[in-house]
Amino acid sequence: MMNPSLRAAVDAVYAEVDAAVAAARPRCEASGRCCRFTEYGHTLFLSHFEAEILLATAPTYAQPVSRDGCPFQVNNLCTARQERPLGCRIYFCDPAYEGIGEAITESALTQLKRLADAHGTGWYYAPLHVHLNAADRVQTTDTDPPAETGRRSLPLV
Ligand code: SF4
Repeated sequence: MMNPSLRAAVDAVYAEVDAAVAAARPRCEASGRCCRFTEYGHTLFLSHFEAEILLATAPTYAQPVSRDGCPFQVNNLCTARQERPLGCRIYFCDPAYEGIGEAITESALTQLKRLADAHGTGWYYAPLHVHLNAADRVQTTDTDPPAETGRRSLPLV
């Protein structure tokens, strides 16, 4: 579990990102396509810090999670918005925003990597479905998963 000072530092990075995105004012058509990864043609990567924060409060979901989309998107809306990872905060498909999001991402990841170094946590960066499938979650699928993949710990700190 993340210690409070580290959590506060990561929250500060999130707040800085949110402010930078708000200042850039990218347009969002609320299509929800960016959370349907295969349809949209991209992959959401996140660090172990972001995964731990997301999973602390995210709704339950069924494992295994495919790489196709985020299980927290319901009726085109994010049900994990408060604790969503950096990519979800930063990415917008607005052509006028091109390049800005990349710069915000680079700065934020640099800060998170510094925090990882300072706190000796190591650094783990992987697609969303990899984090979600590794997480220790209550199964909500109708079929029982194999015993060895049913409940595992996050590959985290
Ligand atoms: S956490 Fe929310 S914003 Fe991020 S991919 Fe999932 S549904 Fe979309």
